[in-house]
Amino acid sequence: MSDKHADVVIVGASHGGSEVSSRLRQGGFTGTIALLGAEPYLPYQRPPLSKAFLAGEMTVEQLLIRSPESYTKAGIEWHPSTVVESIDRTTHSLRLGNGEAFGYGKLVLATGGRPRQLTIPGSELQGLHYMRSIADVDALRPGFVAGAKLVIVGGGYIGLEVAAVAVKHGLDVEIVEFAPRVLARVAGPELSAFYEAAHRAAGVKLRLSTGVEGFDPAPGKPGHVGAVRCADGTVLPADLVLVAVGLVPNIELARDAGLAMGNGIVVDEFTQTSDPDILAIGDCTEHPLPFLDGQRVRLESVPNAVEQARVAASVLNGQPKAYAAVPWFWSDQYNLKLQSVGLSHGHDRVVIRPARTPEGFVAFYLKDGRMIAADCVNSITEFTAAKRLVTEKTIVDPAALADPAVEMKSLLAAKV
Ligand SMILES: Cc1cc2nc3c(=O)[nH]c(=O)nc-3n(C[C@H](O)[C@H](O)[C@H](O)COP(=O)(O)OP(=O)(O)OC[C@H]3O[C@@H](n4cnc5c(N)ncnc54)[C@H](O)[C@@H]3O)c2cc1C
Repeated sequence: MSDKHADVVIVGASHGGSEVSSRLRQGGFTGTIALLGAEPYLPYQRPPLSKAFLAGEMTVEQLLIRSPESYTKAGIEWHPSTVVESIDRTTHSLRLGNGEAFGYGKLVLATGGRPRQLTIPGSELQGLHYMRSIADVDALRPGFVAGAKLVIVGGGYIGLEVAAVAVKHGLDVEIVEFAPRVLARVAGPELSAFYEAAHRAAGVKLRLSTGVEGFDPAPGKPGHVGAVRCADGTVLPADLVLVAVGLVPNIELARDAGLAMGNGIVVDEFTQTSDPDILAIGDCTEHPLPFLDGQRVRLESVPNAVEQARVAASVLNGQPKAYAAVPWFWSDQYNLKLQSVGLSHGHDRVVIRPARTPEGFVAFYLKDGRMIAADCVNSITEFTAAKRLVTEKTIVDPAALADPAVEMKSLLAAKV
């Protein structure tokens, strides 16, 4: 039995875990901090995995959220390749994968999520890939070569971002999407249509309203995928397949320890779980969003993980400051930089504002006359203004919003 112990133990060394460790010190925490992570890397940025890192434009060192020295300097003890298997809440102790125990004063769960796996016939074949980690990109890379046939299952952000990099690298890319449009879960039809046109123009094939029934082995290459069988009867030859069909939150540790569960680990606006000594942050949590009048959501974004980390650190430092941010998100595909703010669910009106550049797009989502969300591509001025209009749920004049001659600035000034 080991006598390892820290005053604050953070499980999960990624966006949330790194941020909470650093914010704790910034807030004056003088106790011991241990950051335990299953991966062999210091916390790194995940968004570039499907963008610049996959494109070979970034190294692992450039992915790191903070330098190795910054953890040492702040006295944050990092434990790589360390899997936490269970929590004993009575003894305030974790059981690690190597059988050791690790004691905690307070515990922060920042365990994130993992890609949803397919279990249809042929899912076990080699050449089928998922994308969540550096290891996943490393596994994909050898087959990611010009001329290879890549089938992407799922037309969400990760699928689309990988398609953009792949087609630029000369791969032959086809996306198979069950819904009638890409980004159906997260975006309005106008934004979906914008991205569908951009991908088609770049040479990506889109097969919409089509499920995938299974994967066939390659003739002469036993155990390796050779084709994707679609529900519409089409068989698509494939040298490699990326499955990007969503995320499953890593909640098992918390669930097995008896913490309250919803569509994630249930926390309040102070990231507090049902155990007063355990907090949880990031993709693994379900939390009330003040912006939605306390409606509970589980968000998958870096800004959310960082905001919850800020809240958790404030609580652990004895100066609790509740979750206050409005959700926002970004995506990079080709030279299209999307910035989205708010959540468009429940909108009753969409206002499209003609973009200032041919490669731009701006959609505002209104509910009862108030702006609740915006999607802006290559439109930083509109996004900056929308961030304020959405945060303040401003009543806006749709005609002025749609008129590019009306400056966004004046809408901010005119708010009631
Ligand atoms: C390819 C890709 C592109 C993305 N692009 C964007 C983007 O453009 N914009 C954006 O806002 N968001 C993007 N995201 C989402 C964003 O990366 C996540 O929201 C963010 O990483 C969440 O951070 P987290 O700390 O909550 O969890 P994670 O980043 O999932 O980290 C959790 C960590 O905990 C570890 N862990 C889990 N269980 C245990 C255990 N029992 N013991 C020890 N360690 C454990 C995991 O190994 C992992 O390292 C993208 C994600 C991916 C995969």
